[in-house]
Amino acid sequence: MKPSNVLVRTTDDPGRARVAAALARCRVHAGHAARATRFADEATVVFQGYPILGRSLYISDGAGHADAADIDSYVTRGPASPSSGANPRTPTSSPRTSWWGETCRGGITRSWDSRTRSPAGLRLSAFDGWWPGKTTHDESEPMKATLIYGAGDVRVETVPDPRLHEPTDAIVRVLRSCICGSDLWPYGAKPAQDHGDRIGHEFLGVVEDVGADVTGLEPGDVVVAPFVWADNTCDFCREGLQTSCRHGGQWGSADVDGGQGEAVRVPQAAGTLVKLPVGEDSALLPSLLSLSDVFPTGHHCAVTAGVGPRTTVTVIGDGAVGLSAVLAARRLGAERIILMGRHASRTDLGREFGATDVVAERGDEGIERVRELTGGDGTHAVLECVGLEPAIETAFGVVRDGGTVSRVGAPQYPDVPAGVREFLRNITLTGGVAPARAYIEDLLPDILDGRIEPGKVFDRTVALDDVPGGYQAMADREALKVLIRP
Ligand SMILES: [Zn+2]
Repeated sequence: MKPSNVLVRTTDDPGRARVAAALARCRVHAGHAARATRFADEATVVFQGYPILGRSLYISDGAGHADAADIDSYVTRGPASPSSGANPRTPTSSPRTSWWGETCRGGITRSWDSRTRSPAGLRLSAFDGWWPGKTTHDESEPMKATLIYGAGDVRVETVPDPRLHEPTDAIVRVLRSCICGSDLWPYGAKPAQDHGDRIGHEFLGVVEDVGADVTGLEPGDVVVAPFVWADNTCDFCREGLQTSCRHGGQWGSADVDGGQGEAVRVPQAAGTLVKLPVGEDSALLPSLLSLSDVFPTGHHCAVTAGVGPRTTVTVIGDGAVGLSAVLAARRLGAERIILMGRHASRTDLGREFGATDVVAERGDEGIERVRELTGGDGTHAVLECVGLEPAIETAFGVVRDGGTVSRVGAPQYPDVPAGVREFLRNITLTGGVAPARAYIEDLLPDILDGRIEPGKVFDRTVALDDVPGGYQAMADREALKVLIRP
């Protein structure tokens, strides 16, 4: 995306001064105006900027010091050089009301901070259509995102356009998102509430804007976000444990956006986002999206279990994480991989990913079958990718003496059966929540080269409006993993 210009015209000195003052402060406080580059002449302010989502551009110092009355008109021009002030086109300026602000005059809205209800500045809306791929912006279509109201109640609704809050933030327009098996826990059990919470923690998109302190990223970059955000610089992050980042957090919590929407404000953007050397229309997007969570989670399971060329492996669970664990174990060199699962369409993909044996039986029968396949001993590594009590019990049943059980399925059980018997067998229990961010750079080249295709776990694609149906399909086990194309 090339920089574009916005020309703001003011005719009186006080108005010009107030706009200039707001811009000067914005350079410090907000990303948008960090690119307000110069004043072309006495009456015209020239930005070199990017509108949020191609929708709007703010003149804001956080206190609303510039007022609509200070601005006579504005136009967008671009892509063009910042100095082009001649022959500006007439702005699209039909006044209209907006849910989040107060329309003052043609196309200029005084905006309000949705949290503090204080004036946040001026939004210049109804831009001429100059951004790539669009001709005219329809201001009547505000941003949409997925909200969860309780068990079985997921809705796609209008939400505030994301804005930069901190200089370390970025705004990302979502190209692909998806539904995680862990999203099904609240979908199955969350108590009903009268307001919706943003949901979704896996997404890939295009940087639309960056705060003043964000390095290494610029608008137009295609990026993937891991399922937690992190600064990637603190002591935990440097140890490869970004899930414990001292300045990190979860998507969809407090005032942080969820990933199942049209755009997301990304905190700690420089540490969180990983730039991808592909275009917006790359056929690799599903596999690259898998780097957000599901594939690094399978990889983490295999890594913590010590999987290597001489390791025999049992993977418990034929869900998207289990299949990813098969692929990860194969990638790490394991030659014998026994997949425990009973859905033929899924275990078929497991075989494609590298499983050498499939065991459909469960419980004691399943344990017996795995032991038969391994001369009675079980396997060196057991990757538990379910999170339910029978699965962890099976894991201890099929692990070889001296072996390792790793669990990455979010445990829905309070205790692990690791007592005297497991002590006498020298069983190691490991695993946990995967620090996806630590693995992305390592896994990325194999996807770019086509050596692995973890995106094959997506077996259904829905538009944003159809996300509720996607949840139901995954809950009913009709879909393995649902890809979302906002
Ligand atoms: Zn950190």
